[in-house]
Amino acid sequence: MQNIIDTTSDLVAVTDMEGNFTFLGPSHRFLGYDPDLLVGRNVMELVHPDDYQETATAFAEFLANREDGRKVEYRYRRADGDYLWFETVGKFILDDAGNPKEILFVSRDFTARKRAEEELKRIEWMLSRKPNSSIQAQAENHDQGYGDLTKLNRDGIILKSIGHERLKSFAGDYLDLLGTSSAIYEINGDYAFGIFASGWCRMMDRASRNLCNTPDNVEALNSGRWLCHESCWTDCAKEAIAKRAEVEIECNGGIRMYAVPIFAGGNVIGVINFGYGDPPKDPEKLRMLADIYHLNYDDLLREATAYDSRPSYIIEMAKNRLNSTAKLIGSMVETKQAMEGLRKSENYISSIFRSAPVGIGSVVSRVLQKVNSRLCEMTGYDETELIGQSARMLYPGDEDFEFVGRGKYAQIADDHATGMVETRWQKKNGTIIDILLSSTPVNLQDHSKGVTFTAVDITERKQAEAEKEKLQAQLTQAQKMESVGRLAGGVAHDFNNMLGVILGHTELALTKTDEDNDLVSNLKEIQKAAKRSANTTKQLLAFARKDIISPKQIDLNDTVESILNMLRRLIGEDLDLVWQPGAHLWPVKMDPTQIDQILANLCVNARDAISGVGKLTIETGKKTFDQEYCNDHPGFIPGDFVLLAVSDNGSGMDKETLDNLFEPFFTTKEVGKGTGLGLATVYGTVKQNNGFINVYSEPGQGSTFKIYLPRLVDDEQIDKAIPEKKASAGGTETILLVEDEPTILKNDPDDAGEERIFSFDGCHT
Ligand code: ADP
Ligand code: MG
Repeated sequence: MQNIIDTTSDLVAVTDMEGNFTFLGPSHRFLGYDPDLLVGRNVMELVHPDDYQETATAFAEFLANREDGRKVEYRYRRADGDYLWFETVGKFILDDAGNPKEILFVSRDFTARKRAEEELKRIEWMLSRKPNSSIQAQAENHDQGYGDLTKLNRDGIILKSIGHERLKSFAGDYLDLLGTSSAIYEINGDYAFGIFASGWCRMMDRASRNLCNTPDNVEALNSGRWLCHESCWTDCAKEAIAKRAEVEIECNGGIRMYAVPIFAGGNVIGVINFGYGDPPKDPEKLRMLADIYHLNYDDLLREATAYDSRPSYIIEMAKNRLNSTAKLIGSMVETKQAMEGLRKSENYISSIFRSAPVGIGSVVSRVLQKVNSRLCEMTGYDETELIGQSARMLYPGDEDFEFVGRGKYAQIADDHATGMVETRWQKKNGTIIDILLSSTPVNLQDHSKGVTFTAVDITERKQAEAEKEKLQAQLTQAQKMESVGRLAGGVAHDFNNMLGVILGHTELALTKTDEDNDLVSNLKEIQKAAKRSANTTKQLLAFARKDIISPKQIDLNDTVESILNMLRRLIGEDLDLVWQPGAHLWPVKMDPTQIDQILANLCVNARDAISGVGKLTIETGKKTFDQEYCNDHPGFIPGDFVLLAVSDNGSGMDKETLDNLFEPFFTTKEVGKGTGLGLATVYGTVKQNNGFINVYSEPGQGSTFKIYLPRLVDDEQIDKAIPEKKASAGGTETILLVEDEPTILKNDPDDAGEERIFSFDGCHT
């Protein structure tokens, strides 16, 4: 016997006649119990509350009628709180006198079979019952009398996110099983959905609504007399929200209510509930309800009896469905909110994208995916022309494109960072613009996801910078020329004075020496060298704009023509000299010898730049510069100018030469060939006459020197100011000689006429 007890999987237990355990078999361990600890406890403690009544009755009958071997089915609790179905057979253990003293219970687990049976019943029930089509029909309104309560919904998140139709179909899912009523509330108590599907609920609700004495829903809700609503919301739903857990109550209408909170993002956003269970049939209870609801007792009784009662497993199923519906609603709201958030931030970002004053775009594998309107504006392309195209189309050439893509930009991308690079783009109309690109990979880890970039047009800034640099360079150059000029002028002046002394004294010495004296040839050499030196100083003085000049009104064409022959001799036969005089030239005011000087210098330079045969062109013309032109060409002054241009097809000049061209002593020619004073003189001369020079040259492309001399406007004044030069006076006039060099003053001024520079030296001091 002991053996059987030890090995059987059935539960074996012995109790006294009250049902208190005196012995428990080891298989109780399968339920998680220590059999010894259960001794003394009552068998009924382990019976499921729902089965308690039935089991207790069976036990009482068993005892009273000595029904040995009676079989009872009930749910038996396991140590972990779960219940299993057992069928138990009881047998009396008799004492020596043959009276029952104890009971032997043998119980067998038949949960699996029970479940299968229930499932079968459920299916049978489902098949047997008529489809509850009324749910869909009633879902629109709570009651024809007072309309749709969801209309009071104040922008509730559940109704807004899910919509009435969907809520209706969700509710239909569990209500089909119960045929009672359900409400879905927003967190503030507003209805997202409400339906009274059973006759009982509808009758009770209408009656309790009538107690409110108002056709206005808000007033009715606030009156506190809407009893069904009160149980539904205040007693059940509100409590479920507060507890954040499901709640079950008995409602004012006499049935049960079950409510489950709805969570979204960890917060309770509402609650869903339904009524279930049979209406009371107890006459006392019905009378009480009739009283409270102001209803007729017979009507109530009829409605209560008509209710198609649901087995408990159907109610369980409906509860499960209600729970999953609550979860479904919660997650749908969550998704909706997330999408809403996303949409908002997308809207925000796209408004930035649209309105940003910088170009914004994105590329994947260097193909343009997105561009904003500023980018289109900057480049002159339409969005449709850019999207889907290689970004190459924005660049003037492969070099710039590759520099950005494979060079610096790629390196920035490799560093998983945001980086900037300056580049050039070519607009649709061909214009090149300077661009500052700033980019960042869409996904820092994965570049194949592309790159977002911003592009700023920095053309103007670059131009301004270049302009500034150019102006600075020009200023520096002008300052340099100025100081070199002052220095050269000072030296030349002093040196010139000394030459005056040397020449004067040589002259004197010559007059005092006999022709056949040996010293005469020496003195003549001294005189020749001094004169040559004087010529050099004259050039320096011209550069320093301290040359003494006699400006007068001239026609440039006449002046040029008068020295053409001389120039031809100067440049030799190999060079073709072309003369292109402009028509109707304006007069200029200038010393004509300065024109000779300028042309001689320019022509000699051109000759030197041409090896072998070549061409030299001298041109004159008129030119007017307006303010706009001068803004674009720093150094130019608005007004009318007469142009004197000398071009050659010689070697041309490189940048370095161009930069230093007008500096005194700058020469690229070998020692003895060039002095570097030619263009310095030209520069000084032109400046002295308020003109300016432009040089166009590139290595191998020849050179053009353009000299602009201001148009003489007021002829009359000039005529008065500079009377026609008369023949050298040399009469009886008294000459006032101003000189700061006493040795010169000592000299005889007789011979001064030819070499103006010496005799009138003092006029610039
Ligand atoms: P120099 O003729 O004594 O060298 P310049 O002042 O006349 O001095 O000229 C300075 C330099 O400018 C020259 O050495 C030469 O390099 C360059 N240059 C001037 N004119 C021309 C020209 N027409 N073509 C090429 N180079 C020129
Ligand atoms: Mg020269």
